[in-house]
Amino acid sequence: METPLKAMKYVVVSGGVLSGIGKGVTASSIGVLLKSMGLRVTAIKIDPYLNSDAGTMSPFEHGEVFVLDDGGEVDLDLGNYERFLDIRLGRDNNLTTGKVYSGVIERERRGDYLGKTVQVVPHITDEIQEWTERVAAQSTDGSGEKPDVCVIELGGTVGDIESAPFVEALRQFQFRVGRENICFFHVSLVPVIGVVGEQKTKPTQHTVKELRAAGLAPDFLVCRSSTPLLAGVKEKISSFCHVDPSHVYSAHDVPNIYHVALMLNEQGISEKLSERLDLKLPSSRPLLDDWRDMAERVDNLDKELTIAMVGKYTGLSDSYLSVIKALQHAGFNSGARMNISWVEAEYLTPDHEEGENAARYAADWAKIREADGVLVPGGFGNRGIEGKMLASRYCRETGKPYLGICLGLQIAVIDFARDVLGLEGANSTEFDEATPHPTVIFMPEGSRTHMGGTMRLGSRQTNLQTKDCDAFRLYGGDMEIHERHRHRYEVNPDMVSDLEAAGLRFVGKDTEGERMEIIELTGHPYFFGTQYHPEFKSRPNRPSPPFVGLIEAALDAQ
Ligand code: GLN
Repeated sequence: METPLKAMKYVVVSGGVLSGIGKGVTASSIGVLLKSMGLRVTAIKIDPYLNSDAGTMSPFEHGEVFVLDDGGEVDLDLGNYERFLDIRLGRDNNLTTGKVYSGVIERERRGDYLGKTVQVVPHITDEIQEWTERVAAQSTDGSGEKPDVCVIELGGTVGDIESAPFVEALRQFQFRVGRENICFFHVSLVPVIGVVGEQKTKPTQHTVKELRAAGLAPDFLVCRSSTPLLAGVKEKISSFCHVDPSHVYSAHDVPNIYHVALMLNEQGISEKLSERLDLKLPSSRPLLDDWRDMAERVDNLDKELTIAMVGKYTGLSDSYLSVIKALQHAGFNSGARMNISWVEAEYLTPDHEEGENAARYAADWAKIREADGVLVPGGFGNRGIEGKMLASRYCRETGKPYLGICLGLQIAVIDFARDVLGLEGANSTEFDEATPHPTVIFMPEGSRTHMGGTMRLGSRQTNLQTKDCDAFRLYGGDMEIHERHRHRYEVNPDMVSDLEAAGLRFVGKDTEGERMEIIELTGHPYFFGTQYHPEFKSRPNRPSPPFVGLIEAALDAQ
């Protein structure tokens, strides 16, 4: 007898009351618990905005743009899934209103709807369901095997006009895949107010009411609160929201985000989830034990490091989320807690030494001097680049550990050309088209005349040029490196021999040997730059090599 094909299971996570209460971390943590049951877990993030992808969205407004292997420029929550579940997602794992509508409109123009009126229901909602089923089945763990469970996170908060077609699609989806194969989590907020710290349930009652009005009945509630949810409060939420009391969980403040999965597990979520979806709950779950070890290790880091981040959006850590995560991961590796000291690049130039910004100038330079290491992350546009160059020069001259990522490599090379080779006015053509010494130039992979789609995006191979370099040691003796890119400009190949003769080493290049991927500096403890973005592939237990190099050098220098 043939065994029937095992059905795919879906876990939908929606949110209410407020955005930014940790829905992404909750959803990823549920994914970790499912993975710890021996299941292959994948994820889809739904973003109900009209942009096709996050590529054109300002990091200032929306947080960083996360880059995938396939070049997808996506919401930063996909980074959470990759890091927590150790998977590799593709651009289709981020479903946006823009993508759904353009697919349907394209088909309408082709005449595929045969004279019918094309409508949100059923055409848009069908497109969402088909997309979800197709993408959920794609392997994301490198095994080539179809996943067992797909976590679907619905962005925004329920009740927004924008998310309505997705909520409706998910309502229909439960009948398409069978009620026994899908369950709904709703993440809500329980504010704690007053001197006695009363936990208020009303916002949760309202958001669940809204969800029910849209036709979705939550199976589980995760209540975000600063303090553990009291038994009486759980009971109250359960009766007002018509959710089994054993399905109401407290997600209170914990010392680090890895505790979220453990906290939910201790409240019985794994048992209830496996009952609801008819999953086997193994008695031993080594992955969960590893996760517990990691959460405890992170609580007990006994060293401390300060890294100065010299950037443009320094007020908002979400703009550099993956870089911060990668620093933290490298810190765990060496037992070091990470302090990030934010430096606004704009105020580092000598024109601010006196006048109204003098205090900022002095304070920002003091941060750089006092830091154990300096990091210049990626960026676009010329605001702050002169300041970034001065920060890299300071590190180059004083031996302070330096890591430059993408733009951080480019400005270090430009500064070297100006300061060591004496090429006055050396620059990137991104910032000065008429520069007499174009040190960083536009090098599209395809057309030189068409701007559209000319960004070098996604995973590309870097070949190390020698074993005698930090990169070889840090990357564990591999001569071939695969990392993710997001840039248009590169070091001008015509200048490489002069730069090398003066001590700047180009130890990693692309497969053609034309594009400079990694720089190091002769005689410096750690002066390292990458044209690629190593932060995107960092994992809590597999930190990114360039970051490990920075942290090790910074600890050595303490
Ligand atoms: N603006 C630079 C370029 O396009 C650097 C990009 C980046 O840092 N991601 O090449």
